[in-house]
Amino acid sequence: MKAIVVSSPGGPSALKFSEVEEPGPTRDQVLVRVAYAGVNYIDVYQRSGVYPRPVPFVPGGEGAGQVVAVGADVAGIRPGDRVAWEGVPGSYAEYVAVPAAKALPIPDTVADEVASALPLQGMTAQYLATASYRIAPGDTVLVHAGAGGVGLLLTQLAKALGATVLTTVSSAAKAAASRDAGADHVLGYDGFAAEVRRLTDGAGAHAVYDGVGASTFDDSLEALRRRGTLVLFGASSGQVPPVEPQRLARAGSVLLARPTLADFVVSRAELEDRFAYLLRQVAAGRLRPRLHASYPLAEAARAHRDLADRATIGKLLLAL
Ligand code: NDP
Repeated sequence: MKAIVVSSPGGPSALKFSEVEEPGPTRDQVLVRVAYAGVNYIDVYQRSGVYPRPVPFVPGGEGAGQVVAVGADVAGIRPGDRVAWEGVPGSYAEYVAVPAAKALPIPDTVADEVASALPLQGMTAQYLATASYRIAPGDTVLVHAGAGGVGLLLTQLAKALGATVLTTVSSAAKAAASRDAGADHVLGYDGFAAEVRRLTDGAGAHAVYDGVGASTFDDSLEALRRRGTLVLFGASSGQVPPVEPQRLARAGSVLLARPTLADFVVSRAELEDRFAYLLRQVAAGRLRPRLHASYPLAEAARAHRDLADRATIGKLLLAL
């Protein structure tokens, strides 16, 4: 089968379109013909070696597609069913073996493109809004990279929870997309902390969601209100250097969280609950995943370049 293979970590050109052996499902896996593989920032970290993986490997962890075979111990999933998943290595490929415990049935009313935008970025946005910091009606929250994959979904979920949402973006097109997702105020990165204070009568935000990292972290602390929460969930601009705990006291006795999705989908019930929450929001029209583009699998390198060059708005997919 066709797949993308990384034999040695590096730039986007490390992603080689190759022929590899089709995986066979083990007893507790289902074999899926991939329709779309999601492109996520974690794929960039793994390709470049920031998050090391043994080589060679097939990148990608997210997607949607149709089940073609099921392992002997799998109950409740049949060939022909459509499923989505995240956290399954080897998703940049024509076929992937998905543990049944990670396979999420897709309702007939939801298209594959929409379903493949939800598992990783959607469930991340969901736990960020409801667990890392529990957004309450009337809160003011700041979402960095508001036109990104996570950013657009988090903005919509935060609005649905009754928050005033401030976002940062780097271009006019991204500002328009962020507003379209419901952002109340869209800011540039320069001087955003002062702008957040101005918009909150000097108080600051209840929570700042920061997936940008190195370039925003200091000002994110500045943008918080007393006893606010900084949720650092990524590092698209680079990793944040070590933080001296006393800084959190000086910033107003603030909380700093550094969550990761795997710790919020621990049991099958938790995984299903988070995905079901997203499907309900989609059905109600409150969550509209925005597709930036879908590239052929062979153009995975271009996809990584565009994601890291800040050229995408919303979800980027690889079509099989
Ligand atoms: P995005 O679609 O948000 O793309 C990254 C965005 O970051 C860019 O579009 C850009 O938006 C912004 N950005 C700011 N500075 C830089 C920079 N120097 N280089 C590149 N991009 C920059 O990606 P995702 O939605 O896939 O992921 C967003 C973040 O969330 C990532 O950091 C990712 O690692 C993290 N993440 C964390 C998870 C967790 O559980 N902790 C799970 C999923 C994702 P702009 O141009 O508007 O600034």
